Amino acid sequence: MNIAIAGAGLVGRLLALNLLQEGHRIALYDADSAYGEAAAGMTAAGMLALFAELESAESVIFDIGKRSIALWPSLLEQLGIPDAYQQEGSIITAHPQDYRELDHFIATLRAKVAEASEIRMLDAAAIGALEPDLSQHRKAFFIPHEGQVDAQRFMQRAAEYLLEHPLVTWHQRCGVERVEEGSIISGHKSRSYDWVFDSRGLGANVQLDDLRGVRGEVLWVDAPEVRISRPTRMLHPRYKLYIVPRPNHRYIIGATEIETEDKSPVSVRSSLELLSALYSMHTGFAEARIVKSVTNCRPTLRDNLPRIEQYEKMTRINGLYRHGYLMAPAVVEQALNEGIYKMEGVTA
Ligand SMILES: Cc1cc2nc3c(=O)[nH]c(=O)nc-3n(C[C@H](O)[C@H](O)[C@H](O)COP(=O)(O)OP(=O)(O)OC[C@H]3O[C@@H](n4cnc5c(N)ncnc54)[C@H](O)[C@@H]3O)c2cc1C
Repeated sequence: MNIAIAGAGLVGRLLALNLLQEGHRIALYDADSAYGEAAAGMTAAGMLALFAELESAESVIFDIGKRSIALWPSLLEQLGIPDAYQQEGSIITAHPQDYRELDHFIATLRAKVAEASEIRMLDAAAIGALEPDLSQHRKAFFIPHEGQVDAQRFMQRAAEYLLEHPLVTWHQRCGVERVEEGSIISGHKSRSYDWVFDSRGLGANVQLDDLRGVRGEVLWVDAPEVRISRPTRMLHPRYKLYIVPRPNHRYIIGATEIETEDKSPVSVRSSLELLSALYSMHTGFAEARIVKSVTNCRPTLRDNLPRIEQYEKMTRINGLYRHGYLMAPAVVEQALNEGIYKMEGVTA
């Protein structure tokens, strides 16, 4: 089949990788370049926060997330970057005055899914054994099964793979005005395909009434004095901090969550909040260097849940919100299973 994908961000790249395995010919359209930073998928920390996201989300994301976690290793293997995946659990801690909130947070997770009973409380000695650099904290919880995908490596390597593939045409810097059943409208021209996918993230808001952007700000720091090996969260009544380790003492610090589609640079207030929480986590961050700050918007629907819309010759996928890496592989799998292969006369 000749298939077009509008929006080559996280969902678009995963769609293309899956469809190529079935031998389809793919045309990718993106308003940005293949290595650009416009996609939220390029900003993301890539945490696979299976349990920790449940506090403020529906338990359905747990099942979707579990499936995605099973799918990521083979996807990254296909791209030749299996080491971009880490699943060694995560840690959540708090300041002593916030331990009640921390206990409440864990109790909420346990009430939502049975598997959360595997979450383990850690005292100072147990924290020190797991993450020696966090041993000044007296209480934390270890959340098993959580992990991370190196989001930027995935996005970059997927771009290289797709650009080199003989069945792929990538229309870079080519904005799509509309996606209709069986056609892509770009530059006021309509082009027909056997099937089209709309995965433009926030860029689909012209055709999805209830789509909004939720601003997120992250900082990248190089901290040679700090050795934290797992995604680590700090619970705080006013903000939630996470630290996602990358190779060579680099850490992604995030993320704010603000109800606006403003993508302007990181604010002073957000920087102060993120950095003071960071410093309280480990004093070794005092001498860290801030190497990058990034802002983007999470594509979010009214119910904060992902949505697959199936039409004749068209599928829309959107609303991955703050869980794109946690959910996209399973959402894409479901969209392909229930949509394209239902077409009469088409065999996968
Ligand atoms: C700060 C931040 C941190 C995050 N951290 C995490 C995390 O740790 N874990 C996690 O699971 N998720 C995280 N996310 C969420 C995740 O990044 C998103 O859910 C995911 O990227 C959404 O995927 P998408 O493909 O729908 O959109 P995107 O990745 O944004 O891709 C959309 C693509 O469509 C293109 N496009 C837009 N308009 C047009 C147009 N008109 N024509 C053609 N192309 C167009 C864009 O250029 C882009 O390439 C984070 C998001 C942010 C902002």
